[in-house]
Amino acid sequence: MLIREFEINMRHALYIYPTVLFTRAVQSDDVSLRITHCGVCFADVVWTRNMHSDSIYPLVPGHEIAGVVTEVGADVKGFKVGDNVGVGTYVNSCQDCENCHSFLENYCPKSVLTFNRVDKNGTITKGGYSTHIVVPERYCFKIPDGYPLEKAAPLLCAGITVYTPMMRHNMNQPGKSLGVIGLGGLGHMAVKFGKAFGLKVTVFSTSESKRDEAINHLGADNFVISSDTQQMESLKSSLHFIVDTAAGDHPFDPYLSLLKIGGVMAIVGFPSEIKMHPASLNLGARTLSGSIVGGTKDIQAMVNFCAANKIYPEIEIIKMDYINEALQRLVNRDVKYRFVIDIQNSFQ
Ligand SMILES: [Zn+2]
Ligand SMILES: [Zn+2]
Repeated sequence: MLIREFEINMRHALYIYPTVLFTRAVQSDDVSLRITHCGVCFADVVWTRNMHSDSIYPLVPGHEIAGVVTEVGADVKGFKVGDNVGVGTYVNSCQDCENCHSFLENYCPKSVLTFNRVDKNGTITKGGYSTHIVVPERYCFKIPDGYPLEKAAPLLCAGITVYTPMMRHNMNQPGKSLGVIGLGGLGHMAVKFGKAFGLKVTVFSTSESKRDEAINHLGADNFVISSDTQQMESLKSSLHFIVDTAAGDHPFDPYLSLLKIGGVMAIVGFPSEIKMHPASLNLGARTLSGSIVGGTKDIQAMVNFCAANKIYPEIEIIKMDYINEALQRLVNRDVKYRFVIDIQNSFQ
């Protein structure tokens, strides 16, 4: 889409519609919240620019939502007015399939994404670039007191996206070694979780400029430029785990060869294709695994883990009127490491 067209759509989306206009009435199991902050995810770029050709305008993006409860339905048990809460990438599911019964609502065939999807009641969901949102209690998460809401927002997508595969593959074993590919919104969270789990963390990046930040600020133990074949060679069969957050196309064989026997590489990004030699898996009994966000129980566990271990995303706070620049900077990978919109001070 042309930038101009995009900006026009954004202007409609951001300055006219995100008001009570789109907020539905509170049902018995609903929580209504006043949004204070919303993280800026690459998904916001994808759908504001209609990159999947399925955007429904006017479109209100945003699925890293933090705010304060303003109203609860009669049957709501877990929340009360004034609670700090978060909403992530989906706001509904069938609640009756195998996945929902296992708290894997993110894989429910009828899960409803937080924006640009048809909800159960037929309305189009509108995301967190907005002052309010109403969601069923099940898809709302308690942010523990004292955890800053602006830092909580990126946990709801970036945080859970890396936390879930790390837990699924038992990466929380102190003393083991983790490689993290890519140091953006997701990668920097994988580094933080890795250190909190007691892992020895190696960051793989294409950019030497990130070395100092990775080692001295994020606490990584090792930093490797992925194009440096000598450095890569020296790490052969040395890692227990790899979390691959790279969004762009990249070779897989060189990374898989770094895994020990039985090692696991978890991908969370969407390169256009995965190409590898079967020997990269077979000769090391290795696993390549995929994952997307996480179920409701895991999201709450992850938020609680971050609060208990003082894990905070690195953020750049912006006002809503900066969003077009922010989305372009996100495309240019020019952000350390997540933009968060200060919603509550943007609409005054
Ligand atoms: Zn996201
Ligand atoms: Zn379901």
